[in-house]
Amino acid sequence: MKDWLVEIRRTIHMHPELGFEEVETSKLISEWLQKFGLEVKRGMAKTGVVGLLKGKKPGRTIAIRADMDALPMDEINQVPYASQIKGKMHACGHDAHVAILLGVAKFFSSIPDQVKGNIKWIFQPAEEGGGGGRVMVEEGVLENPKVDAVFGAHVYPLLSTGKVGIMEGEALAAADRFTLVILGKGGHAASPHLTKDPILAAGHLITQIHSIVSRNINPLESGVVTIGKVSGGTAFNIIPDEVELLGTVRSLSPQVREELKSRIEQVIQGVVRSFGMDYRFDFEYGYPVLINDVEMSKLVASACSKGIGKEKVEVLKPSMGAEDFAYYLEKVPGAYFRLGCRNEERGIVHPYHSSLFDIDEEVLPFGVEMFVRVIDQYLGLEIT
Ligand SMILES: [Zn+2]
Ligand SMILES: [Zn+2]
Repeated sequence: MKDWLVEIRRTIHMHPELGFEEVETSKLISEWLQKFGLEVKRGMAKTGVVGLLKGKKPGRTIAIRADMDALPMDEINQVPYASQIKGKMHACGHDAHVAILLGVAKFFSSIPDQVKGNIKWIFQPAEEGGGGGRVMVEEGVLENPKVDAVFGAHVYPLLSTGKVGIMEGEALAAADRFTLVILGKGGHAASPHLTKDPILAAGHLITQIHSIVSRNINPLESGVVTIGKVSGGTAFNIIPDEVELLGTVRSLSPQVREELKSRIEQVIQGVVRSFGMDYRFDFEYGYPVLINDVEMSKLVASACSKGIGKEKVEVLKPSMGAEDFAYYLEKVPGAYFRLGCRNEERGIVHPYHSSLFDIDEEVLPFGVEMFVRVIDQYLGLEIT
C-alpha cells in the first residue's frame, strides 16, 4: 500500500486547509470511502466525514479518528510535495493521519467477510484550537451505531519510525487560556508620579505569577502557566494607559486546573491593586485533560507488540500539550497513542508546528498496520 498512501498524503500535504475549511480534503476522503463501499456521512461539524463498515457477523463497534486541518504558517521545506498554498502548511502531520485511516479502510474493505461488529472511521475538522472533535461528539458521531471504544494516533517526531508510544491514564493536558488587561493611566514618561504605569505592574505580575506553579501546586502534580504575549505602549517617552497579557494554563487534573485558575486571579488582583490600578480578566476553558483508559492502553500496547515486538512499544510520560481527542474519551473508553515518524539520517527531526516539519513516510504503512492490529484485537477478528 505504501505508494498509494504516499500519494494521498502528498496530495493533501500540497493542498493544506485550515480548521472547518477542509472542503477538498473531506471530498477526497469521501470519494475513497465510497470507492471502498463504506457507508459515508458528510457534513458533520461542517467538513467532517464518517465512514462505516458493518461486519457480516455481530460484534462490538470500534471507532478510529483522524484530524484533517493544517496550520496558518509557511512551509520552508524544499521538497516536491511542499505546500502549494502560501500561509498554510500541514506542520502537525494531520495529512498523514488521514492517509493512514484511509489505508485502514482500504484494508478492511478488502476483507469484509472477516469483519464482525462494526468499524467506524471519524475524520474530523479543526483539531488545532477549533475543537472540531467536540462538535463531532455533540453532533452524535459516537451514536448510530453506538461506539464501544475509540482510538486515535498522532505521528510523533521524538520517536523513530517503527516505534509506538503509549501513555496510561492522563496523557495530555487540559489547556485553558486567559486574557488580562491592566488598566493604568497614561502620561509623559518624565512625570511618572502623574500616571499609573501599567508596564511596571505587568513586570511585577509576570514574576509573581510564576510563583503559583512552584509554591501552590503539589510538586508531584503537573501545571504550566505561560504568558505568551505582552502588548502595551507606543513610544519610549509615553506611559501607556493599558497593557494586555495573554497566557496559557495547563494541567493534568481537574483539581489543579481549578487551583491554577483561582490563584492566577488572586495574584493578578493582589499585584494590580497594590499599584492602585484596575484590570479586566477573562479565563476561557479549552480542551479537557486527555485520559487514556488503562485497559485500552494495554490493548494498544499488546496489539502493536504482536507486530513489532515489545521493545518497540515505549511507555511515555504525559505531555502538557493538548488534543481534542479528549472529548471522545470523555464519552467512551479508548486510547490515544503515538506513531514514531523521526528519521535522523534523512534529517526528519523537526518538531510539530515547525516550518521544517516533515515525516518519514514509512510511518504511513506502519500506522495502517498498527491500527489494523488494534482493531483486530478489539473486535476479536484473528486476521492472519
Ligand atoms: Zn498541532
Ligand atoms: Zn496535531
